[in-house]
Formats: sequence, C-alpha cells, structure tokens
Amino acid sequence: MMLDVKWAVKWLTMCAQAMAEHRVELIELDRAIGDSDHGENMDRGFQAVLDKLAEAPPETPGAALKLTAMTLMSKVGGAAGPLYGTAFLRASTFLGDAAEVDPAALAGALLAARDGIVARGKAESGDKTMVDAWTPAAEAAQAVAAGGSGNVLAVLVAAAEAAEAGAVATDPLVARKGRASYLGERSAGHRDPGAASSALILRAAAGAAA
Ligand code: ADP
Ligand code: MG
Repeated sequence: MMLDVKWAVKWLTMCAQAMAEHRVELIELDRAIGDSDHGENMDRGFQAVLDKLAEAPPETPGAALKLTAMTLMSKVGGAAGPLYGTAFLRASTFLGDAAEVDPAALAGALLAARDGIVARGKAESGDKTMVDAWTPAAEAAQAVAAGGSGNVLAVLVAAAEAAEAGAVATDPLVARKGRASYLGERSAGHRDPGAASSALILRAAAGAAA
C-alpha cells in the first residue's frame, strides 16, 4: 500500500478534528508552563487548513503539505507556527510532486520534518519541546521502513506511538527552550504542549491510513 493525496487530505482533516477535540487540554498544558495559547493557536491553524483544502484541493501529498505549511505559518503564530510551518514545508519538499508515498519516502519525510524543527528552533532532545516527540517518531519510522515490511500503516503507527511516549516523557523534564524555559525547575511535572500536539498530529496520520 502507498499513501496518496486522499490520505494527505484525510490526515489534515483528522488533525483539525483532533485540535478541536483537544483544544482545552492543550490550552491547560500551555497554561501550566506557558501562556495558554497553544490549543487556540493549533485549532485556528488547522481550521484554516481545512478552508484552504476546500478552496484549492491539492493534487499530490506534497502539495497538501505545502498548503498546510503556508497556512500554519500565517495562522498559528507563537513559537509553534513557524516550527510546524517549517516541518510541513520540509516534508513537502522531500516528497516533491510524487503522487504516491512508499514507506521509505514516508520515513524520509518525517525525518525531514524533524530536521526542519531542529534547524528552526535549535532545541536538542531533552529540552522539553516538540523535538522530544518528533525525534523518537522519526527514528521509529526509519526503523520500521528499513525493516522492509512495505507497510506505510506500520510506519505511521510506530511514529505515533513513539511520539506519544516522547510527549509523556517530557513530564519530568526541565524546559531549556521556549517560553517554558523561563520557569526553570518549575517547568518540571508538566507535559510540553507542543510535544502533545505533535503526538496528536502523528496519531492522525496513522488514523488516516488505517
Ligand atoms: P508560544 O510559546 O510562543 O506561546 P505555543 O504555545 O504555540 O507558542 O507553542 C509552544 C510550544 O512550542 C512548546 O510547547 C514547544 O513544544 C515548542 N517550542 C518552543 N520553542 C521551541 C524550540 N526552540 N524548538 C522546538 N520547539 C519549541
Ligand atoms: Mg503558548
């Protein structure tokens, strides 16, 4: 099985649903160690992505991701807007104008997204940011793709599970990047909101392929 533009549109639609459903939860996470805007920012951003998809339906997965990148950059704001914008843009560039995405290309796109976040935000693993969800996700995707099962769903499920575990693992960490780092030791004991929203995005990717 390969992923196509129908999958990409379903993924983004499921992202929008997830952000609406988890809006309050993301607001609460950001209230604890930030400025309470993450849930609102992500919900607004992905609703705008839905509007754009309806206005100008993309023809390839790469085009869908590029539209998403541009929309998130202009609508999400805060730290997360440019970070997610860069992630989706790098993934889009990696996929180019291919009509279909196989497991190796999928793993490559996830790694490109992770690398974009790191290039933009300069966070390392353990800094209590969305990188702590994306790095294990990209690594898990790579491991499954390299196993050669030829199964895009297995790649996405592995990425989603690793992102979820990575988000949970931010709970005890002290933030070293972003707004939460202003709290120092007081940031420990709370989940990073960007790692939580990243896990939702990757879970939606798996859900759309199921
Ligand atoms: P802001 O902090 O500007 O209010 P958001 O609340 O939308 O922005 O997003 C906060 C999230 O952004 C954090 O939870 C964290 O995951 C992520 N983040 C912040 N700074 C960085 C960075 N330098 N690198 C990676 N991720 C970051
Ligand atoms: Mg915030």
